[in-house]
Amino acid sequence: MRTDRVAVIGGGLGGLASAVVLAARGHKVTLLERNPWLGGKAAVLEEDGFRFDMGPTILTVPRVLRRIFAEAGRDIDQEMKLVRLDPQWRCFFEDGSVLDLSENVEAMAGTLDRFAPGSGEGYRRFQQLSERLHGISERFFFWKSVEDLMDTMDMRRSMNLSTMSDVLALRMGTTVAGTIRGRVPDARVAQMLDHFTQYVGSSPYGSPAVLCAIAHMQTSEGVWYPMGGTRAVPEALERLAADLGVDIRLSTGVRQVHAEGGRAVAVETDRGERIPVSAVVSNMDAVRTYRELVGGAPAKRFGKRRQYEPACSGVVFYLGLDRGYDHLLHHDFVFSRDPEEEFDWIYRKGEPAPDPSCYIAAPARTEPGVAPDGGEALYVLVHTPYLRPHHDWSKMLPEYRKTVFDKLKRTAGMKDLEDRIRVERVLTPQDIHDRYNVLNGAIYGLASHGRFMGAFKPGNRSRELEGLYLAGGAAHPGPGMPMVLMSGWIAADTLDQDLKSGALREVA
Ligand SMILES: Cc1cc2nc3c(=O)[nH]c(=O)nc-3n(C[C@H](O)[C@H](O)[C@H](O)COP(=O)(O)OP(=O)(O)OC[C@H]3O[C@@H](n4cnc5c(N)ncnc54)[C@H](O)[C@@H]3O)c2cc1C
Repeated sequence: MRTDRVAVIGGGLGGLASAVVLAARGHKVTLLERNPWLGGKAAVLEEDGFRFDMGPTILTVPRVLRRIFAEAGRDIDQEMKLVRLDPQWRCFFEDGSVLDLSENVEAMAGTLDRFAPGSGEGYRRFQQLSERLHGISERFFFWKSVEDLMDTMDMRRSMNLSTMSDVLALRMGTTVAGTIRGRVPDARVAQMLDHFTQYVGSSPYGSPAVLCAIAHMQTSEGVWYPMGGTRAVPEALERLAADLGVDIRLSTGVRQVHAEGGRAVAVETDRGERIPVSAVVSNMDAVRTYRELVGGAPAKRFGKRRQYEPACSGVVFYLGLDRGYDHLLHHDFVFSRDPEEEFDWIYRKGEPAPDPSCYIAAPARTEPGVAPDGGEALYVLVHTPYLRPHHDWSKMLPEYRKTVFDKLKRTAGMKDLEDRIRVERVLTPQDIHDRYNVLNGAIYGLASHGRFMGAFKPGNRSRELEGLYLAGGAAHPGPGMPMVLMSGWIAADTLDQDLKSGALREVA
C-alpha cells in the first residue's frame, strides 16, 4: 500500500474526521491545531459542578459518524452511548401556544391537526418533498467533492428521464420559506419548519428549496445525545486518531501552505517549522485558507469568482441554575413574533433582531450529572448577524442580554430565571471569531443564500492548488456536525484516491 505524509490543518470535527480516515487508509498523518484542545467549536466549559457543551448540542444523522469509525473497523456503539430524543424539540410561540415536534410523521400530522386544524396534510406533503430532496442530495450531492452543478452529475449518463425529474424536484429558483408556505397555512407551524435552515445559519427566505431536505434527515434518522455531551464526539475521534498513530500537535498554528509548480508541497507552522507533505487537508475556514495560507480565493468557474457570504453568528449564554425547569425538554425553541422581520434583521440589515428566536438546551433532562443535584446546565443560543466592522460586542452585550432574558421570561415561562442563576458565562460573535479562527464570527461557515447556487460551497478538492483539500463547515457539503464530518470524509477519500490513482504528482 502506498503511504504518504499528509498534513491536516485544524482539529475541528472536519479535520479530525479527515485525519482518522486518512490514517485508517494507511497514510502518515500530522494534525496541527492552533488551540490547546481538539474538536474546535465542539468544546466544553466546566465550572462549579456544571458542564456545558459550548458549541453544537443537536446531533443528527449519526450514520456519518458510524461510517467514519467503520473506516477503522470500529463500532461507534462501543465508543459512546448515544441516546435518541423524541420528541425532538419543544416549541414556544409568542401567543403562548406550545408544540412538540415528534419524530414519527403520522403522529406529528395528527398532533398538528389538533394544534392547527388542516395542518396535518400540509405537513405530510412537506415531509414527502423533504424525503425526495434528501434522496436527491444523497445521490448527487453527498459523499463526493462538489463545487457547482457541473460536479453533481455525469452529464452523459445523467441525461435520462429520472434525473431530469430529480432536477425539476429541486425546484430551483424557489426558497425554503416559499416552499413551506405553499403547503402549511398555519404561521406557527411554518415558523417551526423554517427553523431547519438555522442548522446552516441561513435565512429560509434566501435559501434554496433543496434545503428542505434537512427536515427529513432529522425525522428519518432522529436526534441524538451522546452521554457525556456532544463533546464525547471529538473525544472519541481523538482517541481513535491516537490509536491509529496520528501525530497530533496541539497549540501549533499553520501560517502558510507552500506550493511549487502549482502543487502543495509543505506547510509552515507559526513557529517557522516547515513540514514537507504529499498533500494537505485544511479544516481552517475555506475562504480564509485561500486568503491567508495559500494566497488567493476559492475557485472560479466560467472566468468568474463566486462571492461567498459568511453564515450567521450567535450569542450563547451558559447558565448554571440551582433548579431546572420541568416544563422544558432537552431541546427547545422560543420563537420570535415574526420570522420575516427577525430574519430581515439578522441576514439583510446585519443587526441583532429586537425580538429574536432563542434555542435552549436543558441537558440535565437526559443527563442529570451535567449540574449539581436538581440543577440545570442551561444553554441559550440566539443567532445574530456575522460580525460587521462597527459591531463591538463588549458594548452591545448588556443590552442584548436584557432582550434575550426578557424574551425567555415572556415567551418560555422562565420569569424567575435570574434568581436561579449560580454560574453565568457568555460567548459572543467576537469570541467565536477569535477562538475558532472563522470568517467574521460565522458559526456555520458560509451562508446558503441564493435561489440557484445557495447550496454550493467551495469543493473539497481544490481547483486552485493541486494537493490541497478542504474539510469543514465552509466547504462542501456545508456546516453542522454531520455535514462537517462528511466533508472531512470526502476530503480524505478524494485525497486518498488521488494519491493511489497517481492523479497527484509525487513530491520528492
Ligand atoms: C454555538 C454553536 C452552536 C452550534 N450548534 C450546532 C448544533 O446544535 N448541531 C450541529 O450539528 N452543529 C452546530 N453547530 C455547528 C458545528 O459546531 C460546526 O458546523 C462544526 O463543529 C464545525 O466544525 P469544523 O471542523 O468545520 O470547524 P471548527 O470546529 O471551527 O474547527 C476548525 C479548527 O481549525 C483550527 N484552525 C483554524 N485555523 C488554523 C490554523 N491556521 N492552524 C491550525 N489550526 C487552525 C481551529 O482552531 C479549530 O479547532 C454549532 C456551532 C456553534 C459555534
